[in-house]
Amino acid sequence: RNVLLIDSTGRGHAIADLFQRSDPSVQVFYGPGNPSVADERICTVPDISLSDPESAVRFCQARAIDFVFVSHIDALSTGYVDFLKTNGIPTIGPDRAAARLEASKAFTKSLLQRYNVKTARFAVFDRPEPAKCYIRGLDYDVVVKADGLCEGNGAYVCSDQASALQAVDSIMLARAHKDAGNRIVVEERLFGVEISISALFDGKEFLMFPAALDYKRSDDGNKGVNCDGMGSLSPHPLADKTLYREIQTEVLEPLRAAILGEGLKYTGFIYIGAMLCDDGIKVIEINVRLGDSEAEAVLPKVQSNFVRLCEGVLLGTLSSMSLETDDKCYCNVVAAQGPTLRLDEHGREIRYPGWPHGDFEVGFPISGLEAVNCRNSRLFFANVRRDAEDTLVTAGGRVLHVTGIGDNYAQAVHHAYANIEKIRFKGMSYRSDIGLIYGSVDAM
Ligand code: ATP
Repeated sequence: RNVLLIDSTGRGHAIADLFQRSDPSVQVFYGPGNPSVADERICTVPDISLSDPESAVRFCQARAIDFVFVSHIDALSTGYVDFLKTNGIPTIGPDRAAARLEASKAFTKSLLQRYNVKTARFAVFDRPEPAKCYIRGLDYDVVVKADGLCEGNGAYVCSDQASALQAVDSIMLARAHKDAGNRIVVEERLFGVEISISALFDGKEFLMFPAALDYKRSDDGNKGVNCDGMGSLSPHPLADKTLYREIQTEVLEPLRAAILGEGLKYTGFIYIGAMLCDDGIKVIEINVRLGDSEAEAVLPKVQSNFVRLCEGVLLGTLSSMSLETDDKCYCNVVAAQGPTLRLDEHGREIRYPGWPHGDFEVGFPISGLEAVNCRNSRLFFANVRRDAEDTLVTAGGRVLHVTGIGDNYAQAVHHAYANIEKIRFKGMSYRSDIGLIYGSVDAM
């Protein structure tokens, strides 16, 4: 089987790895992929562009590609899947209209409400003054969100009215997220433990994957800013049979009814961020692809042949299939590009705050990768490139993921940290408490 995977992130590496690990005969083409992913059965195709589906069509026509799996939001939200399907290529992924489940929070909130999927109370605004007036009239805390895509930092979790009013100004007047903040959602702040739910969908039925606990805040102690995620634990420590049943009946079934009821053309992974509240589970957000950093902790648990599951998605026969997983624990820790200091040509200090707090440098050589123990951990590359001398160097905010494997959480955490400590690059930073506290600040 020849599969083309459209992605370029650590999540993409984890999906490519699942394809090749679970099926000895598959050849994965990973476009644009990541040139640092060196594996004889994962072939990077840098000529494929996330913004140009024609580049993928050309590749499919030149090679005997059996199907394409699209899992990057930049591609999904601009109609990559629609274009491939129009060209007769079997493709897994939501079309552009279905990708609005991630690309517009206002669209999703209204859908959830109409189909009785439990979610926080909310209102949508196109202008700042009515939003502020609404906030002043509330007697509970809120989260203010830019409607569109903001790379994980468009939600302002507010502890008082003043910071909520300030968030409205930041998004709508200072235009912190540009056009993504032309519309905002103001919603009730929920309290509880967060849970990341992942499932595969064939257009009719969901197949649930193990749940995860994600660490979204940048700094230790769940401090700092919301970012794409600094690590994850899977399975989720609270996910027992009862909770999985509740997820099935309270979240997945009504969500399935919503997707079918609206006629959305959706196949592939779906991610649901939810809060376990005192009065039940409530949906916070939907992503139309797997969460990143959840994918790096969830997918290594999977033992089923993933090509076969994908064939089930393409044929619409997923309901007759089941998911096999191991009984191990997985802890993913993200190594990010932290603060650095450089002298300019006049000897003046230039300070870079580092990702996700502000500007950061790239291009630093990465050492110690060969010392990582692949028997008790997995390594996934996000922003790693090869320089002119073929050295692996840093290339972005979240650089790589180390996932520790263990018979219990403590062992998985230990293996994640024992291995990440072997890796070095200038300004490398990572949270030191992944797996040691709960990810949600409100649960502490
Ligand atoms: P972006 O568009 O920037 O990617 P996002 O998709 O990350 O935004 P959300 O997932 O809606 O935005 O929110 C990000 C985080 O903010 C959540 O994971 C959660 O920790 C917190 N959050 C969001 N909504 C609520 C809420 N109603 N109550 C409490 N916390 C919330």
